[in-house]
Amino acid sequence: MYRTHTCGELRIRDVGNKVKLAGWVQRIRDLGAMTFIDLRDRYGITQLVVDEKSTKEIFEQIEKLGREYVIQATGIVQERSNKNRNIVTGEVEVFLNDLNVLSPSILPPFTIQDDTDGGDEIRMKYRYLDLRREAVRKNLELRAKMAHATRVYLNGQNFIETETPVLIKSTPEGARDFVVPSRMNQGEFYALPQSPQTFKQLLMIAGFDRYYQIVKCFRDEDLRADRQPEFTQIDCEMSFVEQKDVLKTFEGLTRFLFKEVMDLDIDEFPLMPYSEAIENYGSDKPDTRFEMLIQDLSETVKGNNFIVFDSAEYIGAICAKGCSDYSRKQLDELTNWVKRPQIGAKGLVYVKYNHDGSFKSSVDKFYSQEDLKKWAEVLDAQPGDLMLLLSGNKKHMQTALGELRFEMGTRLELRNKNIFNPLWVVDFPLLEWNEESQRYHAMHHPFTSPKQEDMQLLEIDPGNVRANAYDLVINGVEIGGGSVRIFNKELQSTMFDKLGFTREEAENQFGFLMSAFQYGAPPHAGIAFGFDRLVSLFAGLNSIRDVIAFPKNNAGRDVMIDSPSTIADEQLDELNLKIKLKDQ
Ligand code: ASP
Repeated sequence: MYRTHTCGELRIRDVGNKVKLAGWVQRIRDLGAMTFIDLRDRYGITQLVVDEKSTKEIFEQIEKLGREYVIQATGIVQERSNKNRNIVTGEVEVFLNDLNVLSPSILPPFTIQDDTDGGDEIRMKYRYLDLRREAVRKNLELRAKMAHATRVYLNGQNFIETETPVLIKSTPEGARDFVVPSRMNQGEFYALPQSPQTFKQLLMIAGFDRYYQIVKCFRDEDLRADRQPEFTQIDCEMSFVEQKDVLKTFEGLTRFLFKEVMDLDIDEFPLMPYSEAIENYGSDKPDTRFEMLIQDLSETVKGNNFIVFDSAEYIGAICAKGCSDYSRKQLDELTNWVKRPQIGAKGLVYVKYNHDGSFKSSVDKFYSQEDLKKWAEVLDAQPGDLMLLLSGNKKHMQTALGELRFEMGTRLELRNKNIFNPLWVVDFPLLEWNEESQRYHAMHHPFTSPKQEDMQLLEIDPGNVRANAYDLVINGVEIGGGSVRIFNKELQSTMFDKLGFTREEAENQFGFLMSAFQYGAPPHAGIAFGFDRLVSLFAGLNSIRDVIAFPKNNAGRDVMIDSPSTIADEQLDELNLKIKLKDQ
């Protein structure tokens, strides 16, 4: 037997017992007459001790130990004279009788403890060592717990967990595909799924009624903190349901997870139409933990010969509470912030509502105190507040104000990690005009059904058709999204047409689905949650990388295994790719 107990198990009740532990040497403190060793495993840390009563042999053995050696330690549990109240095993220690090195370690490149001295790069390269740290491992434990609870809930609701293939053909979800060359079918490629979308719809046609899968998806996109080239979804589909049934089921799942994992009771999730989210929050993923709503000031501010406003399509503003004493420097910095290319505003107009009730603005030349008071009324500003205005193209400025609101919310510490504000954003537009390609793109994906009442607009005003699509948003993070699907061949075909597919292209790529629609397709709808995002939200982390065991870096590289990498000439030959590469 390797061990009688784990390193997190021994308590005062075990005093006097002979035990055997196995684990990693975290720290050795040599105090001359006495030596302490912190032995660590997944479950905790137990102190081992040798003193003047110990044999010479055991002292010699200890001398050979180093950090991260794997050892087996046998001894008697005793009460500590100097108790450590910070750890559960802190009242006891094991008086060492015997020691066995199971595996030595060379010097680790960083310290394996919560406040490690290792930087990001080195910890990614030695991820298996980083995963030894409790702070990192506990995120993965949380992940496992959440996956388990998800299965419990969905199995309990009659969902069938079904695996779908990973080597498939391209499904457009708005990103680039990762492709895999086929050796047996030279010149042809598989695509890795951006999601199991078409397969889950086929499972509905197959009569599965309720499907789910915790599944890897792949998207070849530029990376950000909350994106990885491969990520995990809780992917679901249901038959004979309407939007509200899907929302109810998945609100149920979300609340179940909050309760099971965090012991939190969350109120019912409010519904917010997409148009309202954009108007008030400048974002389709509003962070509703704080107000600071965007107000349209276009009518209020025009007509004072301030050309910037008079010529603008839209003038919008937010009111930052208690910021009227922002310094010139702070305002300049904020102005530069909104002018960054990512935000793209031309400038920032500010109005300080001073504590004495007067106003000081960057447009005092054009507006009287009376005028500014009107703005304050619209914005519900009080003395001590700061009004921030942006002007220009409506859509662009709403987004910019949304970013500014988010930024001010962060600066004012209004985004409390311990508060969770979920909501459903509904009634998304079906289509989105893309300037670059000069055609409509599906806002969700091409299988999303238009709202019945907007169906007649499809021919005359496609841009204004709303979809039966919904997103779950929590604290400004899009946790999931889905839609009621098209289940009729003709409508699906019209949809591809609106998206600029020729008949042949549509047939070529999605003939299998449209053909399946002809064999009795049930009405169906579904949703997918971004599992990594959900876990990082629960963990209070900003990056999904921290909840993935072996993540990739910002350049999409796994620096530990050094991938992607070139492959051998023979492999290229077999795939008949070599010639093409050489031709370039
Ligand atoms: N397949 C969609 C996605 O990955 C989710 C869905 O519509 O169910 O976003």
